[in-house]
Amino acid sequence: MRSALPEHVDRLTDDDLPAYVYDLPDLREHADAIRVALPKRVRLLYAAKANADPGILRTLAGHVDGFEVASGGELGHLRTLLPDAPISFGGPGKTQAELTQALDAGVDRLHIESEHELRLLTTLLGERTPDVLLRVNLPVHIGQVALAMGGHPSPFGMDPAQLDHCLELIARDPRVRLRGLHLHLAGGLGARPQLALIDEGLTWADGWASHRVIDLTEVNAGGGMGVDCTHPQRKFDWRAFGAGLRPLLARHPRLTLRIEPGRSVTAYCGWYVTQVLDIKSGRGHAFAVLRGGTHHLRTPAAKQHDRPFEVIPDDVWSRPWDRPEIRDEPVTLVGQP
Ligand SMILES: *Cc1c(COP(=O)(O)O)cnc(C)c1O
Repeated sequence: MRSALPEHVDRLTDDDLPAYVYDLPDLREHADAIRVALPKRVRLLYAAKANADPGILRTLAGHVDGFEVASGGELGHLRTLLPDAPISFGGPGKTQAELTQALDAGVDRLHIESEHELRLLTTLLGERTPDVLLRVNLPVHIGQVALAMGGHPSPFGMDPAQLDHCLELIARDPRVRLRGLHLHLAGGLGARPQLALIDEGLTWADGWASHRVIDLTEVNAGGGMGVDCTHPQRKFDWRAFGAGLRPLLARHPRLTLRIEPGRSVTAYCGWYVTQVLDIKSGRGHAFAVLRGGTHHLRTPAAKQHDRPFEVIPDDVWSRPWDRPEIRDEPVTLVGQP
């Protein structure tokens, strides 16, 4: 859509802005390209927290194998939009109401974050027999990555010793169907470090299962395929990732691998389009005042992340005074208060 974007923006009126603009055909193509790059034994889920816009979710339905949600709100949103889509429900802090909602909605997988959560779940089951993955915080060395969720003390997943407590509970309650492990450990990784981490995770999972005589058939390796906002042209290499997974999976012949990328699926197919309302200088520094505010870009604003941007020139100027402008000097982009 690079070339179609300015044309589309041309059709937006001032009152339409700021707008989130998505190229849905491009998104569909991107999802298909990811699919094609992956070995057959990989199930591709989309982590809805990356962008849960209805148009995006509807576009991805049928082009991914399912969706991952992290709250009752996301679960309800997805169920309303796509009543038949397979949904995995993960994340720490699920309430009793959310677990009940997940059981009622017939989610495809529940990712269990703690022994307490598993105990709570068993009190709510009745006749139901959910398929669960136990989320583990693996003792692996993750190094300096953008976002590490495991390998150090973290609210995500459980220590390997706690998995054994969960196994005892599951052994006593056959309604809980253990399908495997969940290992989302880090975000912002390129294809090679992502492969290395999955390799380490699967080797650990295999050893863990064989010591307990568990027939491990499923591991969810999470998402976290890197999106580099400071170098947007350096995209996650799905082909290298898929090619690297083939020999890796050959060493685990009975395993189905699930992945649940979010940002790397949608980030390149959407734009936040706004308008420069004013350009002003104060105490020697230039500011461009844009339509909209930080609530439209919550994460980058709160975390001081950089975002790539492009200027789409608009040459129309009909006021009887000179247009404010800035050339060849740094400018700070700010929003409306
Ligand atoms: C955030 C998250 C994802 C998606 O992460 P991306 O970096 O957007 O790919 C997947 N799984 C879990 C459990 C997450 O918390």
